[in-house]
Amino acid sequence: MQTIIEHQMGKTFQAYLAPCHRTYSCIHCRAHLANHDELISKSFQGSQGRAYLFNSVVNVGCGPAEERVLLTGLHAVADIYCLCCRTTLGWKYEHAFESSQKYKEGKYIIELAHMIKDNGWDHELTTRDKNMNKDMFTSSAQKFQVKQTGKTAK
Ligand SMILES: [Zn+2]
Repeated sequence: MQTIIEHQMGKTFQAYLAPCHRTYSCIHCRAHLANHDELISKSFQGSQGRAYLFNSVVNVGCGPAEERVLLTGLHAVADIYCLCCRTTLGWKYEHAFESSQKYKEGKYIIELAHMIKDNGWDHELTTRDKNMNKDMFTSSAQKFQVKQTGKTAK
């Protein structure tokens, strides 16, 4: 009994985003990270390639802030990590020292290498494709069988 309670408590920290929304999840543990609605920009660069700027994220912990000189100037940034699997995902802009970069304050960068698109992205299309393929497969298999039977008869 004790074990079950602890297990449930351990699970409660994970936030779930509305399943009807297009969401981004942690590629390592599939915890939800952000809604597509919260995406500000796709044109950021992380240490491992492309990175996205989000207005808000979930299931993400924040390390201590430190000053770093980025391509766009001096910023106070903090590493962010997935609360479920502890993988470092990107960083948070705590403070921007240049006025042109102020819009990034309090926003989150997640590197594309750590994210996977989840829910309603192309679910309808995928379902339709699957049905189409199944239909095509069934009809061609039937034709094939007929041909085979014909050949065997000759
Ligand atoms: Zn994770």
